[in-house]
Amino acid sequence: MSLREASGQAARRAGRAAVFLDRDGTLIEDIGYLRVPSDVAFYPWTVDAVRALNQAGLPVVVITNQSGVARGVFTEPMVEEVHRHMSSVLDAGGARIDAYYYCPHHPHGTVAAYAQRCDCRKPGCGLIDRASTDLDLDPAQSFVVGDRWIDVGAARAAGARGILVRTGYGATEEGEPPPDLPADAIVDNLVEAVSWILRQC
Ligand SMILES: [Mg+2]
Ligand SMILES: [Zn+2]
Repeated sequence: MSLREASGQAARRAGRAAVFLDRDGTLIEDIGYLRVPSDVAFYPWTVDAVRALNQAGLPVVVITNQSGVARGVFTEPMVEEVHRHMSSVLDAGGARIDAYYYCPHHPHGTVAAYAQRCDCRKPGCGLIDRASTDLDLDPAQSFVVGDRWIDVGAARAAGARGILVRTGYGATEEGEPPPDLPADAIVDNLVEAVSWILRQC
C-alpha cells in the first residue's frame, strides 16, 4: 500500500464533515420550554438554510439541551414529537435534518432518572461525540451553530468550529463574551452561518 493510499484510508476512517445545529434560538424561535408541535415557530430562512446544507452534501445534525425532561415539564416522547413535526415542515420544503440528539438531563432535575450530571449537556460535547460515532462524522472538520456561548463551548470541546448567531439569545450573548472562548464567526442568523460554512468548504 502506498503512503497516499494509507492516508486516504485514514481520512475515510476519520469521518465526514458535518454541521451541528442548536435547535431553540437557531432553527426555531426560543419560546422557553417548548411542549407541543403547535408552538414550533421556524425562522423564515430556516428551510432554505438547511436545504443549502443538504445540497452541499453536509450532514445536518440537531444538538439540543432539553432539561425540561429532567424538570418534569415535558417527556422524551414529547421532545421526539416536536422533532417529527420539525422534520415534516422541513421535508415539505425539500430540506432534511439527518438526526436529532438531545440531552434530557439536568443536575438539579426533579425527575430522578434524569437528575444527573452528564457529558451530553452542552457545553459538553457528548451529543457531538455520540452523533459522530453513529454517523461516521469528524468533529475536527465540522461546524456547530448556536445562539449561546454553550454552543460555541461544545464546538470547542469537540474540536469543531463554533459559530454564534444573533437570533434567540445570541445578540445578548454577543455582548457578554466569556473569557477565552472566541467564536470562529458571529453572524446575524442561520442563513448567514450557512454562507460562512460553505465558504470554508
Ligand atoms: Mg439555543
Ligand atoms: Zn445529558
